[in-house]
Amino acid sequence: MVNQRALFHLGVVPGDGIGPEVIAEGLKVLKTVEQSLGTVSFSLRHFPVGAGEYLRSGEALSDTRFSELRKCDAILLGAIGLPDVRLPDGTEISPQLDLRERLDLYCGLRPLRLFHRDHTPLKGYDAGDIDFVLIRESTEGLFSSRRAERANDPDTASDTMCISRKGSERVFRAAFEQARRRRRLVTLVDKANVLPSMAFFRRIFDQVAEDYPDVRTEHLYVDAAALRLVRKPESFDVIVTENMFGDILSDLGAGLVGGMGMAPSADIGEGHAVFQPAHGSAPDIAGRGLANPTATILSVALMLEWLDHPETVEGARLIRRAVEEILAHCPGTRDLGGKLSACELGDLISRNVEGQR
Ligand code: ATP
Repeated sequence: MVNQRALFHLGVVPGDGIGPEVIAEGLKVLKTVEQSLGTVSFSLRHFPVGAGEYLRSGEALSDTRFSELRKCDAILLGAIGLPDVRLPDGTEISPQLDLRERLDLYCGLRPLRLFHRDHTPLKGYDAGDIDFVLIRESTEGLFSSRRAERANDPDTASDTMCISRKGSERVFRAAFEQARRRRRLVTLVDKANVLPSMAFFRRIFDQVAEDYPDVRTEHLYVDAAALRLVRKPESFDVIVTENMFGDILSDLGAGLVGGMGMAPSADIGEGHAVFQPAHGSAPDIAGRGLANPTATILSVALMLEWLDHPETVEGARLIRRAVEEILAHCPGTRDLGGKLSACELGDLISRNVEGQR
């Protein structure tokens, strides 16, 4: 009998700036995983989406492309947006936010891990000492206000923090499930001492926590969380918070482990998910081979894990081990203090994946 390979259809959105450069390295490593395992296949379809596409066609993400992307088993995205390409209201082109909203990708998962002591600005931390996951609610909170109707007042502008029971419960459950696979601690980050919406958020958190008696919990105000992230990052396991706080704290977290090039992310909903490095299109370094592809390569690992097939889960393990082994000994790209190009680092990680089989 011929063994059937598992086949996954992936939508690939390279995007703008360094997006195509880091995606090339992510796909290189994915290809190596496919060849090394020999039991799983990935069918890739590329989609032109983003600020460049907006300039070309007037639409950053057309409805037709959206419905095709929606049919994919998972979406891998590079980075979107260019500082000079703006909508008439002055905001950036951000179809990645549209994807989050239209596919209802409520769980923004951002794992942050230190791979080498030289990557952190903190003293006394070694590889593995910083290792936590930040979960950002990604469909409501303060960001949901970006689509709200505006009052026609030339002297005032306001945005509303939207917190719903349904939106909060599902992201808290995702956080508790993550914690069960880790060190079983969930930290809620809020501003419950000032904002009624945040006090509501905290009440829902405490109610959901009752269903997970095996997981420890704590509450932290967002300002105190920023301080503790810098002073004692090892004290965190899973952090869960609203959309905008998560946006800010995940950049802080990236700064603790080597910068934006080290921060992968997954935006997960029910049956759909988008995987992308947490960084933007970094136009200042685009086209010069300077981008660090690690965040994208680790996002590929998150995608393989989420596809939840024994072979893809094994692929995710191979990638993580390769990143760990390579970065333990090699200085890496320029942002990490090394001299490697994106392509050279991608090659090293790829070869390590190959060598593990
Ligand atoms: P966004 O608003 O989309 O989050 P941004 O413009 O605030 O994006 P980034 O594009 O993420 O910020 O870049 C911030 C800084 O980090 C830039 O100086 C950029 O050079 C650097 N940077 C971002 N990604 C990488 C990467 N993969 N490798 C090296 N440096 C990076």
